[in-house]
Amino acid sequence: MFEARFPSGETMPEQQLRCRECSAMYAAGPRYVCEQCFGPLEVVYDYAALARQPLRQIIETSVPSMWRYEPLLPVRRVPEIDLEPGYTPLLPAGRLGRTLGLRRLFIKNDSVNPTWSFKDRVVGVAMSAARSFGYDVVACASTGNLANAVAAHAGRAGMRACVFIPKGLERGKVLATAAYGATLVEVDGTYDEVNRLCAEIAEEHRWAFVNVNLRPYYSEGGKTLGFEVAEQLGWRAPDHVVVPIASGSLLVKIHKGLTELQAVGLLESVPTHVHGAQPAGCAPVATAFAEGTSDIRPVIPNTLARSLAIGTPADGRYVLRVARQTGGAIVAVTDDEMVASIQLLAETEGVFTETAGGVTIAALRALAARGAFGEDDIVVAYITGQGFKTLEAVADATRPPIAIRATLKDFERNVLELVA
Ligand SMILES: *Cc1c(COP(=O)(O)O)cnc(C)c1O
Ligand SMILES: [Zn+2]
Repeated sequence: MFEARFPSGETMPEQQLRCRECSAMYAAGPRYVCEQCFGPLEVVYDYAALARQPLRQIIETSVPSMWRYEPLLPVRRVPEIDLEPGYTPLLPAGRLGRTLGLRRLFIKNDSVNPTWSFKDRVVGVAMSAARSFGYDVVACASTGNLANAVAAHAGRAGMRACVFIPKGLERGKVLATAAYGATLVEVDGTYDEVNRLCAEIAEEHRWAFVNVNLRPYYSEGGKTLGFEVAEQLGWRAPDHVVVPIASGSLLVKIHKGLTELQAVGLLESVPTHVHGAQPAGCAPVATAFAEGTSDIRPVIPNTLARSLAIGTPADGRYVLRVARQTGGAIVAVTDDEMVASIQLLAETEGVFTETAGGVTIAALRALAARGAFGEDDIVVAYITGQGFKTLEAVADATRPPIAIRATLKDFERNVLELVA
């Protein structure tokens, strides 16, 4: 089913799935939990075979999207359903860096994807998997951005979509999902309750829940945010990354992407300290990190950062492991710090991010303030979503326009001195 053919003509064996806990092996398919130990499954690759390919040349001459890393993904690109996510800018952030004492700070601006968040990457991979497994209906449990990405991809693929969201999401995310034509279901409960319901539905009905039964495929899309940054830095891994955490999948996969590049010979070393960012109103991983335990206690979210409001993060344990192994930290920031950081990023770098990006920049500032970075370290902050989707969050914090009549006199009296 997943026969990968490289430009050189050599084929790769069909990928299998392996339990992350007990290493039990399974055939490729729409399954996500181990039957032996209930651990999560992940895709297995033959790195030795990949290392024999001219991978760097394959990648550098491929399409300008995340599919340039196709040999390191579990499914093949299907052009007619591809919205071409990825290959987003890595911006040197000189002005923001100066305010933090960092000479080599970069913003990975993933807010410019087809539906304006990094979720287009994971959904792109999951849609190809859903196609190859013969599904007609795609579905998801979403905190907002995933809903947009699933609805858009389903529209393009001509598949039906059913999207489940908790109450209270931002208007922009809800309206856009509906515009793409998805069946949108608002559940009276938290995201964690929505997710539990979706797991039950997936047991009973043959639907492709991209982040439930297709999770091993879906999550692999997150690796491309590691691959891209390494390529954009000239095939080197950053010294630090700062990544927002919802379920924790993205953070774990960025690190996995970097270590895979080393495994196939494209990076010499991965010195990267992996830091995570959570809103204080939903910070179960940051709390466990601070307490030095691996025990993540579920919380009921209370934060404006709705896209990160997951009280029972599925990959929390793995996030803790990656952060501790790499010498990173998990930081919690308040909603006020988040809003101020959305504005700081917009004012200093011209990038307007949603609440998740505000959480990331606030965590970056906190880490810089406590001396986590060397002045010359390469630091990459991942901006994963678009500010226009969460206007509510900044509505009260920004200045309203200055209202004048259309006269030079009014302009000179009311405006001129403000700009000078
Ligand atoms: C979903 C999401 C994340 C984090 O996703 P994980 O569940 O941790 O992989 C980060 N930023 C934005 C904007 C998101 O929508
Ligand atoms: Zn197992």
